[in-house]
Amino acid sequence: MFKLESLPYSFDALNPYIDAQTMELHYTKHHQGYVNNLNATIKEYSELEGKTLAELLMNISSLPVGAQNSIRNNGGGHYNHTMFWKMMTPDAKVISSGKLYDAILDKFEGFDLFKAAFENAAKTRFGSGWAWLVVDQESGELEVYSTANQDCPIMDKKFVILGLDVWEHAYYLQYQNKRPDYISAWWNLVNWEFVEENYRQILGL
Ligand code: MN
Repeated sequence: MFKLESLPYSFDALNPYIDAQTMELHYTKHHQGYVNNLNATIKEYSELEGKTLAELLMNISSLPVGAQNSIRNNGGGHYNHTMFWKMMTPDAKVISSGKLYDAILDKFEGFDLFKAAFENAAKTRFGSGWAWLVVDQESGELEVYSTANQDCPIMDKKFVILGLDVWEHAYYLQYQNKRPDYISAWWNLVNWEFVEENYRQILGL
């Protein structure tokens, strides 16, 4: 059975950039819902028991047809949100050095250009989805892109480095229709220490 990990901070810790009510609903209703539905599917298809979430998501087309949509939506939702909570912190610091920082400068020719590309992916994702900084598993290169719904980059053979939830449930109570304001405020919360560590582990640096 998959479990909802505890949040690494309180619901009100990300104020003023994300309000407590949004955090509480997002974590206790939305994320918990993905976990519950994922577990219900595993229970129904017992051949899926014991597989890791990554194993399930990387091989969706080989799963029982009746389980595929649920694994994609609920398994993806669980994976994405588990990473998302850890990628934020009330004690965020700016990033100005390190392996990931250097790789970003190399790939995007400047940190501001990276931010602009990421923000563009977040703003232009139509409807519900996520913006991502990923490492492509074949090329080893950083990439910015977005996914629809709860689709997870590991379904596309890409490792998650940094992600932003742009579903309306992530911002609408506080920002209403102003998604760009939520996106620019969110940079103040990025836990670059975690993100850098995650990047180094993935690349074995
Ligand atoms: Mn969400």
